[in-house]
This record gives sequence, structure tokens and C-alpha cells, in this order.
Amino acid sequence: SKKVLIIGAGGVGNVVAKKVAMNPDSFGEILLASRTKSKCDKIAAEAREHGLPTEIQTAAVDADNVAELSALIRDFQPYMVINVALPYQDLPIMDACLATGVHYLDTANYEPKDVAKFEYSWQWAYQQRYKDAGLMALLGCGFDPGVTQVYTSYANKHHFSEMQYLDIVDCNAGDHGKAFATNFNPEINIREITQPGRYWENGEWVEIPAMSIHKPIEYPNVGAKESYVLYHEELESLVKHFPTLKRARFWMTFGQQYITHLQVLQNVGMTSIAPVKFQGMDIVPLEFLKAVLPEPGTLGENYTGETSIGCQIRGLGKDGNELTYFVWNNCKHQDAYKDTQAQGVSYTTGVPAMIGAKLMCDGIWMQPGVWNCEQLDPDPFMALLNQHGLPWHEAINQPLSVEA
Ligand code: NDP
Repeated sequence: SKKVLIIGAGGVGNVVAKKVAMNPDSFGEILLASRTKSKCDKIAAEAREHGLPTEIQTAAVDADNVAELSALIRDFQPYMVINVALPYQDLPIMDACLATGVHYLDTANYEPKDVAKFEYSWQWAYQQRYKDAGLMALLGCGFDPGVTQVYTSYANKHHFSEMQYLDIVDCNAGDHGKAFATNFNPEINIREITQPGRYWENGEWVEIPAMSIHKPIEYPNVGAKESYVLYHEELESLVKHFPTLKRARFWMTFGQQYITHLQVLQNVGMTSIAPVKFQGMDIVPLEFLKAVLPEPGTLGENYTGETSIGCQIRGLGKDGNELTYFVWNNCKHQDAYKDTQAQGVSYTTGVPAMIGAKLMCDGIWMQPGVWNCEQLDPDPFMALLNQHGLPWHEAINQPLSVEA
């Protein structure tokens, strides 16, 4: 079993640390490090109370500081780093991994702090350096990105000769009882959905005003929910790696109350990432907003309902005939809470991160270079999803609800 360093002790870090601690066959010693050490200590104490087999060690680190992080890595000597801090830290952590010779995994693509820009170019640029160093970097191994790409490559491997239309459908039909809260880091969440939307069609990106395309989509066990076309980062790698796709879109549900709050916040300038002067200090309105909103990690206990995320695909089957395929997971917030004291959105991200790390530590997915999840064999990942809390289901040649 391999030593791992987990960076970030938010909603997702909590789930990753506990799921890693539940799997001592693959993972040995665990160090959980984050900017605020007390958050790591709280997670470690909960893991102890729940009797998890491996003790979680903790440390403080500022992952923006490559030298400080490299020193921590040299001291602990992990086999790999699981990065579940924020997207801003991806490049410094990738640099520290290169400097110290350890493998890397994250769940969201790099974003510069000053422009909301979602693309893989910065991280793909590390390809040669990781290959030359004999190191692996696995990018975007949460649910979406992550499982959605594993689903797509599983569909491609087992069902299609030519995938043509892909719709990723992401629903959170949960109720946390708060007037307004985001399910993952509010700053990243709001940056993502206030951007113009974008989808792939006939070999090019089509840009649309934010939240301007929407319709009700039927989700399994949930029913019809209003869903909005957004840009989501896995579209970039999916259309690159599956060039037969004529169209690829990403849909996400939002409740009317959420949208109303967001519109007001946007109208008054609270979602801006441009600094404003306040009492002689530079303040970024969105960062201030984050400070007053509930932390995503605290939403778990009374969260009811479930998430439903899947891929709806149409194209030509292995026999050359028209085929539709839908593969999905539903996750109840309360089940996630029972397993890891977390809400479903943190859970559906943290479990796949543990699975990707497990496949790296066990040598099954291990290969030098920088990879997106659809580039590796989907079969072992799909099997582990069923074993570790995110079972999937499939429907073959049924009408696709996104097209209804
Ligand atoms: P949180 O805001 O709850 O947690 C982020 C954690 O990172 C906090 O503990 C924070 O510390 C820590 N952190 C921030 N900056 C630094 C730094 N410079 N050095 C060390 N630690 C730092 O976010 P989530 O847990 O919800 O999300 C974590 C990641 O997962 C994000 O990148 C997010 O985009 C991604 N994600 C991916 C999803 C997927 O499906 N692929 C879905 C949901 C999230 P502090 O508390 O001190 O600020």
C-alpha cells in the first residue's frame, strides 16, 4: 500500500481523506494538509471516532508556495498527491510534484485567479515534463469532470462504433434548507455559471449568453427539472478524444430561488472578480461573498433528496444500427452523510478521486504523462464505482429524456 498526501480540507477533502482511510489495501499512511490546519484536525478526529482503519495525519501548508509544499512532500515522501484544494493551486502543486518526483491527481482544471477561464491548455503543457520524469498526472477525476468521461469512454468501448451526440445531464434535487448556498466552493461555482455558456456542434464551439438555453429534463427517480446549458470543462477533452461527436452539451439543474438570488447578487456587483477599494483595502466582491455564504462542507447533516448525473449518448452501435445509451448514478445526500458526514456533491466528487488514486497506487492506471479520465481503461473504474458507494445504471435503446 502507498503513502498519500491529500491537499485541501474542504467538502471534497473530507470525503477523499475518509474514503482513502477506509481502503488500507491500496493506501498506507495518509497526510491531510490544508491552509487551515484545524479543518484537517476535525476530519482526522471524525475518522477516528468512526473507527476508520487508518489514522489521518495533518499539517498546515500554503499550496501556492511551491517551495513550502515541496519541503512538506520531501519530508513525508508520499507516492502521490491528491489535490482537492482550489483550481488556482493546480499549477503550483503540479510543479511541486515534478520537483519532488511524486504522482499527481486533481478534480478541476487550472484557473487563473484574475480571469474566469476554464481550459486544459496550461495543464496539458506539462505532458512532456511528466513523461520525461516518469510521473503520472490524472486530471479532473471527480464526478463531472471525471466519472462523466469514464461513462463516455465505457459507452464507446462497449456499445458504440460511432458516438455522435452526447448530453451530460447533472441534477441536484436536494434541499439543504438554506435560502442560498452553493454545493461546492461558492467562488468557483459562481465563476462557472455566470460565464457565457458554450457547447460543441459540427466541429466548433457555439457560445451563448449565460443560462439562455434551458428546458425541463426528466431525471431518474427525481422527475422533470429545469436544466440549463453551461460550459463545463470535460467537454474540451471529450470532443478532442472522441472526434466523431457532432454535438456535445452539458446541462445542469438550478432552482428558481437559486437563480433569483444569483441574479440579484450579480446585478449589485457582488459576483465580480475585479477588486474594489473598501476602507483603503482592495476587496474582491466574490471573495467577500464567499466569506458570508455557508461553507459547502457544513450543508451535510440536514440535506435531503438526491443527485442524479449521467451521460445520454446517441450514435451508431457496434452493429452499425442507430443506438441510444444512458448511463447514470443517483446519490442520496443522506447516504453520503452516513458514509462520510458530507453532502452528496462533495461525496460524488471525493469518491471518484479516491478511486482514481487507488487505480494509480495499485498500478492499474499508472502510466507516465498527463491524462484525462476518458483516456484510460474505463472497466476497472466502473467496477470500483459499484463497490465504493456510487453504483451506476444503464438504459439501452430507450428514448433519451434530453431529446424529449
Ligand atoms: P472548499 O472550498 O470546501 O475547500 C477547499 C479547500 O482548499 C479548503 O480547505 C481551503 O482551505 C483549501 N485551500 C484553498 N487554498 C489553499 C492553499 N493555497 N493552500 C492549501 N489549501 C488551500 O471546496 P470543495 O471541497 O467543495 O472543492 C474542492 C475542489 O474540488 C475544487 O477544486 C472544486 O472545483 C473541485 N470540485 C470538483 C467537482 C467535480 O465533480 N469534478 C465537483 C465539486 C468540486 P481554507 O479552508 O483555509 O480556505
